[in-house]
Amino acid sequence: MKSSSQVSTNIVKLTESFFHSTVSAASSQVQKSSMALFGGLLGQYQKRRLLFTVEESNNNKGGNNKVNPWLESMRASSPTRITPNNNNNQDDSNNNPSWIVGHPSALKMFDEIIWNSKGKQVVVFLDYDGTLSPIVADPEKAFMTKKMRAILKDIARLFPTAIVTGRCIDKVYDFVRLGEVYYAGSHGMDIKGPTKSRNHQKGNNNEALVLFQPASQFLPMINEVYKILVEKMKAIPGAKVENNKFCLSVHFRCVEEKCWSALAEQVNSVLKEYPKLKLTHGRKVIEIRPTIKWDKGKAIEFLLESLGYANSTSVFPIYIGDDRTDEDAFKVLRSKGQGIGILVSQIQKETKAIYTLHDPLEVGQFLRRLADWKKNKF
Ligand SMILES: [Mg+2]
Repeated sequence: MKSSSQVSTNIVKLTESFFHSTVSAASSQVQKSSMALFGGLLGQYQKRRLLFTVEESNNNKGGNNKVNPWLESMRASSPTRITPNNNNNQDDSNNNPSWIVGHPSALKMFDEIIWNSKGKQVVVFLDYDGTLSPIVADPEKAFMTKKMRAILKDIARLFPTAIVTGRCIDKVYDFVRLGEVYYAGSHGMDIKGPTKSRNHQKGNNNEALVLFQPASQFLPMINEVYKILVEKMKAIPGAKVENNKFCLSVHFRCVEEKCWSALAEQVNSVLKEYPKLKLTHGRKVIEIRPTIKWDKGKAIEFLLESLGYANSTSVFPIYIGDDRTDEDAFKVLRSKGQGIGILVSQIQKETKAIYTLHDPLEVGQFLRRLADWKKNKF
């Protein structure tokens, strides 16, 4: 495992590589603006494999005729939560042999996973909501259990570990409260290093190192849209708008389904005025983000490079997530042939993940076994 000084050295090297890379001619104002985003930390840089461009089109916006497809996406992304009364229809993963064969339990296949990681550095990437914490009605109360925090603390001590979430870093840090881990908030648009070194060296200040913020120029626009959406959503009982710094979340987990169409119309009416923003769908949430090609997949590529594992065959990333946005990370791992993706789901879903876990409880069990394996290895 790399020491903290090695990791820091790699981050510095990466930063230097950004400094000295050939600066491609920026073809758009957004690209020009984005190049200044590292500010005092990185200055002017550009690296071809991390280059992002404004998407030329945005299929998720437009007139009212887009509302119906939105509704379909809202329904597809937001299956009814499993309760003791409705689990006959929803919890079908155990009853579908082909899906289980395609995506076996990471707990049952633990020994195989460990075998495949042999001789490689395990790096752990974790989504937060629905992965480390249960999905709850009030997103402000998505607390992690004390047991999960203890397991996560152990994992972060043993492996390079990052939380990759749609939430803003400050909010997820309030839930996690561990300075040892990397945080990629706002779907990877805000990446920060640990607030303290992994071996707790004295003299470290408590400020996290900002590693990457590719969407800073969108902040004023996002704040403006946040205020508008807060006003609009007052007409939709149960709707909640969350400002995740580089993206916005409109939660509808407490909105009656008969109001989803009105909610979609309201969001649509706002978004059509902002062509530089796009929306994506998650579990009972609509997310509004800048139209840059940056997602959780790009974020984990960046973090692996920061840790010194760009295109390395000696790294074994494990990414655990429950949401559609986590699929970008699963895809990256598949395409690189590195490590594994683990989908947290109690229902059958299309996924690029290899393995599955049922719920945050099983995620905790898997991480516990991983930590115990590492501890007993030597
Ligand atoms: Mg999630």
